Amino acid sequence: MGFRFANVAGRSSLVDDAGDFYDLERMTGGDISADPEAALADLDALSAAQSRLDDMTPFGTLDGADIRPPVTPRNVFAVGLNYADHVAESNMELPTAPLVFTKFPSCIVGPNADVELRSEHADYEVEVVVVIGTGGRDIAAADAWDHVLGLTAGQDISDRALQFAAQPPHFDLGKSRDTYGPLGPTLVSPDMFADATDLALSCSINGEVRQDSRTSNLIFSIADLIAYLSSIMTLAPGDIIFTGTPDGVGGSKGIFLQPGDVITSEVEGIGTLTNRCI
Ligand code: ZN
Repeated sequence: MGFRFANVAGRSSLVDDAGDFYDLERMTGGDISADPEAALADLDALSAAQSRLDDMTPFGTLDGADIRPPVTPRNVFAVGLNYADHVAESNMELPTAPLVFTKFPSCIVGPNADVELRSEHADYEVEVVVVIGTGGRDIAAADAWDHVLGLTAGQDISDRALQFAAQPPHFDLGKSRDTYGPLGPTLVSPDMFADATDLALSCSINGEVRQDSRTSNLIFSIADLIAYLSSIMTLAPGDIIFTGTPDGVGGSKGIFLQPGDVITSEVEGIGTLTNRCI
């Protein structure tokens, strides 16, 4: 048994299949810390608590709760052009190595935060996000999943004009404006999924589906990405990796986010992010 974790109003919580949450410090009489980083340091305790949820009374439902990012990341890696259909819509060549850039951690916000556009060229990208649990260097792809704390969902909001304002392009700045990194709503351990390498992900704008794919379509798999990044630098607990977005982004059609637009992003088993553009 694994766990489905959420940060509700700054407090460690677990989430059941119905989307109700349970405050970990209160349900365990203080055995598990209310501090998310401390709670995520003992995964066995989280799994044991998750298995007891059926006998507990929920503290509330995630709908309408103050959900914060499940982790406060150290490094935020992101991968461009990691779905073949998105490579095609971008008129680019298939990459021969992962195209890695950074989102600065200061852009990370909760799963239902407003996105401050500050640009006429802001675009959406739904992604599955990997959270590293056990760090390491030179991690073999075959061992990579042992280093994964869990999976969450993210929006890699991108200012396309800023992203390509310089040559070579500076992806890092174009994807790191304040609020450009919604993350959540839950952080789910790999063993909670029937197949953690094949998750549906989708994104709608004002209810119209724009992106709809599965992570089994990734060019470089989660294991490949961990092996690649750890061959360059030591990965540490709390590092996160945005794994790439499928086709259907607005920029390739010249359509950009407008104030008032609502971005709804969903990943199977993880939940929904709802972000209003202001
Ligand atoms: Zn992206």
